[in-house]
Amino acid sequence: MSIISRLPRNDHTNAWNTILPHRTPHAALAKVIKADWLVIGAGYAGLAAARQLAHNRPDDSIALVEAGVCGENASGRNSGFIIDLPHTTSSNLDQLEGSQSYLRLARAATAVLEKNVHDFNIQCDWSRDGKYHAAVTPAGSQAMLEPYAAELTALNEPFEWVEKDALATKLGTTHFHRALYTPGCVLMNPAALTRGLADTLPENVLIFENSPVTAMDYSHCVRAATQGGSITAPRMILAANGFSEQFGYCKNTFVHLALCASLTRPLTLAEQAAFGVDQPWGLTPANGFGGITMRYTNDRRILIRQDIKVAMGQAFKAQKTDAIGRNHKALMNARFPKLSNVEFENSWVGYVCMSRNGAPKFGEVSPNIWMAACQNGIGVTKGTISGMLVADKACGVVNPLINDMETLGAPTQLPPHPLVEVGARATIGWEVWKNRAEA
Ligand SMILES: Cc1cc2nc3c(=O)[nH]c(=O)nc-3n(C[C@H](O)[C@H](O)[C@H](O)COP(=O)(O)OP(=O)(O)OC[C@H]3O[C@@H](n4cnc5c(N)ncnc54)[C@H](O)[C@@H]3O)c2cc1C
Repeated sequence: MSIISRLPRNDHTNAWNTILPHRTPHAALAKVIKADWLVIGAGYAGLAAARQLAHNRPDDSIALVEAGVCGENASGRNSGFIIDLPHTTSSNLDQLEGSQSYLRLARAATAVLEKNVHDFNIQCDWSRDGKYHAAVTPAGSQAMLEPYAAELTALNEPFEWVEKDALATKLGTTHFHRALYTPGCVLMNPAALTRGLADTLPENVLIFENSPVTAMDYSHCVRAATQGGSITAPRMILAANGFSEQFGYCKNTFVHLALCASLTRPLTLAEQAAFGVDQPWGLTPANGFGGITMRYTNDRRILIRQDIKVAMGQAFKAQKTDAIGRNHKALMNARFPKLSNVEFENSWVGYVCMSRNGAPKFGEVSPNIWMAACQNGIGVTKGTISGMLVADKACGVVNPLINDMETLGAPTQLPPHPLVEVGARATIGWEVWKNRAEA
């Protein structure tokens, strides 16, 4: 048996989840069972893989095992942008073919999620509001937004320039110089979507929450042991994102990052009137390291997502959450002085992983074991589509999108952890400093 020594830790501070009605998680694994398929991890990738396996093999049993509860993982604590376009700060017209593949994958993922939300009436504030990709300075617009606009033009994708004054009216802040508005992005509550997907899985999927896998045996079939039981299966899909490396795959492949976010209480009617903004919006910064992601949600809250830290241990000191909240509050007050009385419900940290070359880990990693991981921070679409397609691949289903997925390449190896940590900290620190005017 190989022991899984690093398990996800839940700080219970994800406001997207705490603002929702109480939900009873599925029971933890409490006995020894056999299944035709084992899926590990109930984020977007694992949920999509389990659903697609069930669709492809209606007579097979699928066991989906999740360390925590759905809605609390990275999939439930992100910023809620379902991004339909290549999301890059260094657009390259030489890579248009890759961008076309990416577009097909992201659009297919969005369509699959939209169908599930519609068919199962998942109440997650799903709303095709589009998004603003915004620069704070003219230099930022020239260096980052203009090349992106050229790429969108070459891709024949619609977009609109929104200049400072019009932007101030739409967003309720004069902080930004200019933005590029694209209409295809969907905004939602990620905890509600993740819970909804988990609670509407087909009947041949058995989902176990609060069941961290603590040991694996690959000697005969696959056997995953938890504190309360075990699951044996002839085939497995590993969808534990950065934690997948604990299962013996992808050593020295992932850079683990902690991302911090905060969500306010809903604005009162008087505060909404003072704010003077009628429509919900989502904004991503021209520079993803230096800038701040923000939203004005359907239920009239402000989201602030800022600060990326290298966290190779996939853990963060809980007491730091207060400091994150104070920092986010100062940023919010500077951008929205009229809302300085509006407090946060909570602030939280979530973990994502990236590869050196931005490629996902997708496909068969050893006989009868497949992986869908490393979404490089854009996991709502990438996780969903890679989970769905890896299930097709594992079942031998012909799907032309598998080719698109494979053109994204495979992650390249990194140096050993201590070197990666130093290198990644230096790279992020340099990016933040270089783009400090775009904060
Ligand atoms: C603050 C923040 C903001 C973000 N904003 C966005 C955004 O707006 N749009 C976007 O597209 N992406 C965003 N992301 C990234 C996105 O959330 C992730 O890329 C995505 O959730 C990855 O999905 P996944 O299914 O691969 O992994 P995860 O959601 O991490 O799921 C993996 C699952 O594996 C489980 N697991 C791990 N180890 C074990 C074990 N031993 N036993 C059992 N289960 C285990 C974990 O508990 C977890 O539930 C953001 C992330 C954060 C943290």
